[in-house]
Amino acid sequence: MEQKTPVLGHVHSVESFGLVDGPGVRFVIFLQGCHMRCQFCHNPDTWKTEGGDARTADELLRQALRYKPYWKGEGGITVSGGEPLLQLDFMLELFRKAKEAGVSTVIDTAGQPFTREEPFFSKFEELMRYTDLVMLDIKEMNPARHKTLTGHNNDNILELARYLDSIGKPVWIRHVLVPERSDFDEDLDALGAFVKTLSNVERVEVLPYHTLGIAKWQKLGFDYPLDGIQPPTRERVENAERRIGAQKSDAPTQAEQELPERVKGC
Ligand code: SF4
Repeated sequence: MEQKTPVLGHVHSVESFGLVDGPGVRFVIFLQGCHMRCQFCHNPDTWKTEGGDARTADELLRQALRYKPYWKGEGGITVSGGEPLLQLDFMLELFRKAKEAGVSTVIDTAGQPFTREEPFFSKFEELMRYTDLVMLDIKEMNPARHKTLTGHNNDNILELARYLDSIGKPVWIRHVLVPERSDFDEDLDALGAFVKTLSNVERVEVLPYHTLGIAKWQKLGFDYPLDGIQPPTRERVENAERRIGAQKSDAPTQAEQELPERVKGC
């Protein structure tokens, strides 16, 4: 019988013990490639769609399963990025095999590639059958401000949120709070109102902007677009949490304490 050639994933890096990437302890796979250009991105080295290590789903799953004893029922694998939805064929293979092995699967996405057009949509529908949870970033509700902040429109991202609701897929929504970019009361209220229309949201989080990505921008020779913008104050973080209806975070903001190297969000 002819052997099917495995789809290769282009992998930026992996982390064996992710604690901020979904429920429990998780093996996190960061895929290479993202079309967004978020001004606060702390992983601009993942943007290029070419490059990264070419890995098969079997290899990655074998590597992930070494850490299974630490997952204790809750944990599993999370695919983040970059943008995982740019490598749908690989995601399908990886998550199908993960579910066959009884592994919990989470996607951490900014949703930018989502469309109801084919061939994307059918593949995405199938991927959702193998996905336990989607962590979806909503960067801004105001379309013009979203475009300034990320270089892209948000209409298909909001459409993705509605689609996930229509199929009852559990979702965590995350909003990166950036002073002067995504910290406007009216937009936070709009996000809170939008989230209220969805019945599948299990958790909402505000992620305070931090400046830990600056060194990577400089190393890549890029001008840093948020130069001079400081992390939000505790007061603004709490204001956003209240307006969006987010979980209250006890984690210190960067203004209060330097954060560790690994922080939430793609
Ligand atoms: S923050 Fe995420 S979605 Fe935005 S550019 Fe960076 S990798 Fe892409």
